[in-house]
Amino acid sequence: MESTVTIPLLKDHHSHPLFYSAFNHAISLNAVDDKQAAENILSQSFEQENGGLTVAHGWRSNHYQWAQAELELMPPLAVFNVSLHSLIINRGGMNCLRQKYGDIVNQIADPVWYENNLRVVLNWFANLYASRENLSHFFAKLRDLGIHYLEEMLLVDENEIQIFEDCNLLNRTRFWSAPDTFQSLSPQAKTQVHGLKLFTDGAIGSESAALHRPFLNGKGNNRGILIYTDSELTHIINQSLETEKSLAIHAIGDRAIEQTISALKQLEPRLKRAPEIRIEHAQLISEEQANMAIDLGIKLCMQPNFSSDSHDYSDRLDQAYCSGNNPFRMLIDKVGYTPGENLLLGSDGMPHGIESAAHHSFFPNIPSQQISIAEFTAGYCLDDFSKGAIELKINDLTNTVICDVLPPQPGR
Ligand SMILES: [Zn+2]
Repeated sequence: MESTVTIPLLKDHHSHPLFYSAFNHAISLNAVDDKQAAENILSQSFEQENGGLTVAHGWRSNHYQWAQAELELMPPLAVFNVSLHSLIINRGGMNCLRQKYGDIVNQIADPVWYENNLRVVLNWFANLYASRENLSHFFAKLRDLGIHYLEEMLLVDENEIQIFEDCNLLNRTRFWSAPDTFQSLSPQAKTQVHGLKLFTDGAIGSESAALHRPFLNGKGNNRGILIYTDSELTHIINQSLETEKSLAIHAIGDRAIEQTISALKQLEPRLKRAPEIRIEHAQLISEEQANMAIDLGIKLCMQPNFSSDSHDYSDRLDQAYCSGNNPFRMLIDKVGYTPGENLLLGSDGMPHGIESAAHHSFFPNIPSQQISIAEFTAGYCLDDFSKGAIELKINDLTNTVICDVLPPQPGR
């Protein structure tokens, strides 16, 4: 049966707009699942770049891999994993980065350094191409994808705020920043930052999410990476609370989520200093952890598009992790999380837009990942139609949804 529903434009609660806007001209491998197709797309870019750096993102490591020796045969190249939590780069690519950022670039090859310094690396790439033109163009593209507003989860530096201001885009975002970036800002810029962002683990795509049970591939003893020891995390959260800013903590694996919740629990009386505290992603959260989190007043900011990790990463996650990934029904029906209040939805740009969000929310592979249209609208949309609307044609027989982004309609 087909039904038509109209919803407001999206409010994407988790993205990296300056970084992605710098990728306007980068190659997207998001839709590519074989190596030959990826190489065909890359080779077109090599011709255009004419010896300059080619940057690609959306590489799906579960479908294809390159040996370093193969990469060395290509012109300067950097390819981000779809999770952004790993990067493959050849010597030519390293030389391009080193010219601008110096020898620190050499550390990229060390996966633990990379995970610990992810935002530094992302900022290098953002700053290679950050401009007013790219940001304006990017926000125009977002509108076509049904997004009006999106949160910047990793402020690059003070100049980014200026770029947003110059583009008249400050009312379409809010800024989160890493603690040391925050400390580097002028007093005026600090007032423009909504909250601080911490990472506690990596991601599933790069096999660096911190798990209790090991990843299946490799030697079978990799349980991912915790960025901090327990006491370091408690300390840095405690310090962050001093700023009286909100707090967003990236935790994907159950081991990282557990560490995060127990650190917050220890600091419980002080948590009200932060206007809001969120866990970002929380993909492998257990019911017990969710109950503790909701009792502590912690919001969850989750990405319906990551529901497909259950299928895409069944090579590395055990069955229980696959079926427990993005457990929206458990969170809403059993634990009492409420979309729009303490359960927020976003994309992390993987990819942006209504199409992927709607498909993964309404027709996930696993029933416990399903989100109703009302829940989706509460957790993922603007409050009203003043900025425009999206028409969804939902077909329950074919499990498909056709999305049309409509212009603003005054008076609705
Ligand atoms: Zn992110």
